[in-house]
Amino acid sequence: MVRGKEEKGDISEYRRKRRFEKTPEPEGGKIQSAVSAGGLSFVVHKHAASHLHYDFRIEMGGVLKSWAVPKGPSLDPSVKRLAMLVEDHPYDYKDFEGVIPQGEYGAGTVMIWDMGEWIPGDNPDEMLKKGSLKFRLNGAKLKGKWALTRMKKVSEEEGRESWLLIKERDETAVSGNGDEILEENPLSAATGRDMDEIAEGMDPKNILRGTKKKVLR
Ligand code: MN
Repeated sequence: MVRGKEEKGDISEYRRKRRFEKTPEPEGGKIQSAVSAGGLSFVVHKHAASHLHYDFRIEMGGVLKSWAVPKGPSLDPSVKRLAMLVEDHPYDYKDFEGVIPQGEYGAGTVMIWDMGEWIPGDNPDEMLKKGSLKFRLNGAKLKGKWALTRMKKVSEEEGRESWLLIKERDETAVSGNGDEILEENPLSAATGRDMDEIAEGMDPKNILRGTKKKVLR
């Protein structure tokens, strides 16, 4: 891999779709130039847009390669979750949690549902080109081995590529309940807030969930 000749991400579509004077989302002025000491980032956003979905994003080429996952990730290796490849998002988007105002692209509440490091199993650019990404996740919620696999068919709307997000069998896989990880871990990995608290713009410091429970007992 020759440094400087890597295929870089492109956030022009991301920018074209958004009005940064109206949305609190990052404009993404800079492309992340080097691998940070902490490794490559991943984030899973829970996004209550017109349809609730999850967005799976991994740092690659200085941007976040992004897939919209309508049903969210599953820890059950027999469950294959549809993941539509969407436009590259700026690297800074990994820190975005908040509300996209009504009338703007993707209007609705956005939560950092999970965050952490992704560890590619091979050269990321080559795996992307081949349509077969194998990697490990070291997140707050998602861990172990995962795969993203491109299907041959390209969806007709916008020519988006359909991929599948699949948990690979290892000690972090859980068979039998495809949605368990989503149902049992509904809070933000970044701020501990639920979707309503993010929508209300609540200061994470003012959330007394744990304390209240202790008092009631
Ligand atoms: Mn989304």
